[in-house]
Parts: sequence; structure tokens; C-alpha cells
Amino acid sequence: MPVSLPLLALLAAFAPPLTMLLDVAAAAEPDHADTRPFECSNCDGWNAEQAPFQLAGNSWYVGPKGLASVLIDSGEGLILIDGGLPQSALPIVERVAQLGFEINQVRWILNSHAHFDHAGGIAALARLSGAEVLASERGAEALRAGAVPADDPQAGYAPDNQFPPVARVRAVADGVPLTLGKLQITPIYTTGHTPGSTSWQWQSCDPQQHCLTLFYADSLTAVSSPEYRYSDHLNYLDQFRDSIARVAESRCDLIIAAHPGFVQLFERHREGKLIDAEGCRRYAEAAQAGLVRRVGQESSEPVAGE
Ligand SMILES: [Zn+2]
Repeated sequence: MPVSLPLLALLAAFAPPLTMLLDVAAAAEPDHADTRPFECSNCDGWNAEQAPFQLAGNSWYVGPKGLASVLIDSGEGLILIDGGLPQSALPIVERVAQLGFEINQVRWILNSHAHFDHAGGIAALARLSGAEVLASERGAEALRAGAVPADDPQAGYAPDNQFPPVARVRAVADGVPLTLGKLQITPIYTTGHTPGSTSWQWQSCDPQQHCLTLFYADSLTAVSSPEYRYSDHLNYLDQFRDSIARVAESRCDLIIAAHPGFVQLFERHREGKLIDAEGCRRYAEAAQAGLVRRVGQESSEPVAGE
């Protein structure tokens, strides 16, 4: 049926103005810059869905498949370690809910290192939970800036190495335990993959006070932008080696790594072998071999400019 012109005029007169329609759409689906998906070749695989599972009494894995995120119940509020990519944040909130918790029970969000794939979701998670964000001195600087510092081995990858900045970050000291409720968690500076890299150590105890030490190990991989050479930064290289030694010697009954595949976390879970007193030592040995290989390659390459 052809629509008459007077009818069109009548419809137009009653139609809401376009700006009002746009406002309604925005309210239904708020677009926050801090959850806008980051694109990279590994991002979809890293962010693939993973059902949450219990690591030990007070601790659960809540990250996607390729980027760890761990929830810890202190008895007086929750702690979350790492936030994955910006697009990982809302699925993490969903997994926390699947475990029967609510995101606004999270009091602290801790970070391993300030790269887009582990810190990218933290701004959104902090906004949604109201939690305070805690990181090492150098990590806190990078989180506030939403960018890696100039002395990060991957700094040359800019502008890729940016992520949503985090407004409220508290810097915590190396090796000083932090107390929330009945829980103590200790930041262990593990400089190397980034200047601010941090591993986190805490305990899960049963009612008979049998305790396990859990260790969230930051990346110890020698990955850099093409122009960076570890052998041009001998002081930094020494710190990297010290970090690897620290992880090897740490008390550690159950290791989780920032990339769970580095410690076969899902296989260990499937096989009922999450507890592994040798886990940290093996992780450190692999890191040491990687660093030796990398520095060896540098010495066999021509120095830039020669
Ligand atoms: Zn990284």
C-alpha cells in the first residue's frame, strides 16, 4: 500500500528527535573506552573462554585461556591478580559471579606487569569493583601512565604498548607482606620482562592449618623490540638473572604463571596435579635457558651501526 504524504508528515511529527534515539542507545549499551577491544594477532586466542576453577581452598582461576587472572578470598574481601586485555574485563566479572561472588567484593587488584595483555583490563575492573590497584613502584608508574616506560625492553613497540590508564594505584614495597583480613600476600619484585615485574606469594590453609604456598609468577621471558639488546644493559641483565634465581628459590607449592600455558596449568588441573613443589624451580630453569639463548644470539649479531 503506498503511504500518502500527509501520513508521512504525521509520522514525522510524532517521531522522537534523532538525538534522543542516540541517547537511549547509549544508555542501554554504554561504551567505555576501558573495555574497547585491543587487537593483536594473539588476542582472540588469549581471550578464549575458560571456565573458572579452584586452585586451592581460597583461590580460583578466573582468567581467559591464555592470560591468568586469580581470585583470592581473604575472608574480608577479595583480591584479584591481573585483568587480561580490556576485552577480558567483563568476562572476568562474569566468572567471579559464577563462583558466587560479586565484583564489588574485590578490595585489591594486583598486577604482575604493565603490558596490555595483563594490565589492559585493570582500569575497567577497578571502575566496576571500586577496588584499589596495587603494583611495584615501577609497575605503578606504568599503570598510571597507561604506557610502558622508555627502559622497558618492549618500549620500541610503541604505540602498541599502551593500555587504559589506571587512576588510583598504590605502590607496594618489595618483599613486605600486605594484610587483608586473615590473608597475607607478598609482592616479590621480579624485574626482567619489564622493569616493574612482580610475582605474588600467599598461602591457602585448611581448617587444620595445613597450608600451601601459592606463587603467581610473572613472565620471565626475554622478549624485546628488535633494536633492544639485553647485553647493552648489563645492570638490567643482572637484575633479570637475580629475579630468575629468586623465583627458583621461593617457597612455592603451586605455581600459576601470568601465561598459564608456561606452567601447563590446565593439564595439571585436569590430571589433579596442581600441587607441584618443583614448579617454580622448573619455571625458573626454563627462563634461565631462554635468557642465555637470547644473550648468546645478541653476541653473534652485528652491533647496530657497525
Ligand atoms: Zn608482557
